[in-house]
Amino acid sequence: MSIAENIAQVEEQIAAACRRAGRSRESVQLMAVSKTHPPQAILDAFAAGLRLFGENRVQEYAAKRDPLVAAGMFAPNSASVHCIGPLQSNKARRAVELFDAIDSVASLALTERLNDAAGQTGKKLHVLIEIKVSEEDSKHGLRPDAPELDRLLERMPDLHHLELRGLLTVPPFAEDLEEVRPYFRNLRTLRDSLTQRHPKLALEELSMGMSHDFSVAIEEGSTMVRIGTAIFGARPAA
Ligand SMILES: *Cc1c(COP(=O)(O)O)cnc(C)c1O
Repeated sequence: MSIAENIAQVEEQIAAACRRAGRSRESVQLMAVSKTHPPQAILDAFAAGLRLFGENRVQEYAAKRDPLVAAGMFAPNSASVHCIGPLQSNKARRAVELFDAIDSVASLALTERLNDAAGQTGKKLHVLIEIKVSEEDSKHGLRPDAPELDRLLERMPDLHHLELRGLLTVPPFAEDLEEVRPYFRNLRTLRDSLTQRHPKLALEELSMGMSHDFSVAIEEGSTMVRIGTAIFGARPAA
């Protein structure tokens, strides 16, 4: 199937999940996760109407960006690309130059660096905090009970070059989606309690749901699903 056909199928499934959950289709954004795929795949998805993309490595995206710029993807009010992968502090400056938002913020030190870099670049950078909802070593992010999470949220209103928009998580993989559902629900509950503790913050975005579990994520309140495989096909094994 072509990328356009894959997108049409994903769109149908998103619409169906929204109907089941009594939500409007507009309440969920579709992010195409294009990591490991060539610029042409991104251009195909753009031609099929997608405007939001996720990449997880600074260097990889830097190497792929020129053809996208040349094709006019970044004309005003056109496409945006978010960083969704773990980011080292020493890459903060480059990431701020390349990306429209950083959805994988996971430390106070990185957040301060991003704020400084955004200030130097004259950007107001949207960010999400990545939350590690499981114990798995392979997952990134701040644990829900980490003292650093509260320190970060307290600091946020003073970081004038950043706008915190919400939370992101990657739950453990399970064939049975009912095993995944509680992790999504926990992220939403965490968002609600953090909002009560930090009323100045507007944590509207819940970035959750990938190719195999996005329907359940939408039922549990996701506002942004991150879809790679179901749009672009399988990635080469890492
Ligand atoms: C790769 C990746 C995705 C997309 O995963 P698929 O299962 O291919 O849809 C989503 N989110 C993050 C953070 C990723 O690294």
